[in-house]
Amino acid sequence: MLKISKLVKRYGNGDPVLKDLDLTVESESIVAIIGASGAGKSTLLRCINRLVEPTAGKIDLNGVDLTALRGAQLRHARRRIGMIFQGFNLVDRLTVMENVQSGRLGYIPLWRAVMRRYPKQDIRRAYELMERVGIAHYANKRADALSGGERQRVGVVRALMQEPEILLADEPTASLDPKTSEQIMELLRSLSREFSLPVLINIHNVAEAKTYADRIVGMRYGRIIFDAEPDALDAAA
Ligand code: ADP
Ligand code: ADP
Repeated sequence: MLKISKLVKRYGNGDPVLKDLDLTVESESIVAIIGASGAGKSTLLRCINRLVEPTAGKIDLNGVDLTALRGAQLRHARRRIGMIFQGFNLVDRLTVMENVQSGRLGYIPLWRAVMRRYPKQDIRRAYELMERVGIAHYANKRADALSGGERQRVGVVRALMQEPEILLADEPTASLDPKTSEQIMELLRSLSREFSLPVLINIHNVAEAKTYADRIVGMRYGRIIFDAEPDALDAAA
């Protein structure tokens, strides 16, 4: 479970872009964050994985306050946070297997890739997950030979290889066509159930959020202005 309390982020001396934000995300649930550009959605995700340093507040992931961690502890905690990106962030000239293994190892395993040496159990796990999302037959293809939807599946498997405690997805479907977007959202929803994973998604497509999220959180000027089940959205909006 992720429990954020009184989170504040201020860049430099500017006004805070997150203002005493409270948010709890249960396991096995998809929470979609919507809101206009500039509302603070990316900043929120970046505070959780500590790509940006929160100014104040707590971010508790399964009993560990991420804001209190430094150095090796922080690197360790980051490995427990699976990231999925709008642009997939794959290494094009490496194979699907090599990309996926970089999630496990936390870096691009160049020499391992060259030597084809990964621990057996990592290979097995990668194949299981690739089977699960339907890309196992591409394991030895270069990442740039795949379609957008397939590339995002690689991104999902790479994140799952970390055995994450939470998945953070920043506009994961924004580069995909509508049908592929639906497949990816459906996949994230079923994986959330299967692995008891909380999933926090920044998304601009409200219809998609309503169809696939368990909860919709609306942000505006660094605050949460609603937080409700999708069915309640029409009433709130
Ligand atoms: P988004 O689509 O997420 O709103 P933006 O265009 O706002 O993207 O931001 C793109 C990048 O520029 C991000 O890495 C963000 O952190 C950075 N950025 C946005 N606003 C500023 C700013 N005022 N000063 C410095 N960097 C910024
Ligand atoms: P969203 O993801 O909802 O578009 P962001 O978190 O990207 O919102 O941005 C929230 C606010 O923070 C915006 O006003 C943006 O310009 C500002 N901002 C984002 N990143 C930076 C940065 N690195 N430096 C300064 N200001 C930033």
